[in-house]
Amino acid sequence: MLQWIKTRIRVRRRRLKPTKSARKAGLLKHGEEARNLVHEKLVYWNKFYGYKYNRVFIRFQTTRWGSCSSKGNLNFNCKIVLLSPAQADYLIVHELCHLGEFNHSSKFWDLVGKTIPNYKELRGEIRKVDLRLLG
Ligand SMILES: [Zn+2]
Repeated sequence: MLQWIKTRIRVRRRRLKPTKSARKAGLLKHGEEARNLVHEKLVYWNKFYGYKYNRVFIRFQTTRWGSCSSKGNLNFNCKIVLLSPAQADYLIVHELCHLGEFNHSSKFWDLVGKTIPNYKELRGEIRKVDLRLLG
């Protein structure tokens, strides 16, 4: 019985993890639009912050919306195109601000709040979205 449950759980997990072809299809569907949107918004918001970033990657992911590497590379989920413009702006500013503060300290949130005063609300909205269910 326990083995059966374990197997069922494993099957469920596997189904929720994107296959290579699902990632390809997702990128094919949203990749170009996402790249354009991300670049446009990065240029716009970085006029305020003036950070230097390295490369920008667009990925199809089920666990995160974006990230910033210590090398100054920015990663964004191609599903950003499915967010509202305000939510997408918040996401862009969030990762941009990691170029200034590589953590989630109060200094970091102060930076975000300089351009996105309602970041708490937008963050809450985005966190409620189940990325695994979003195509
Ligand atoms: Zn962060």
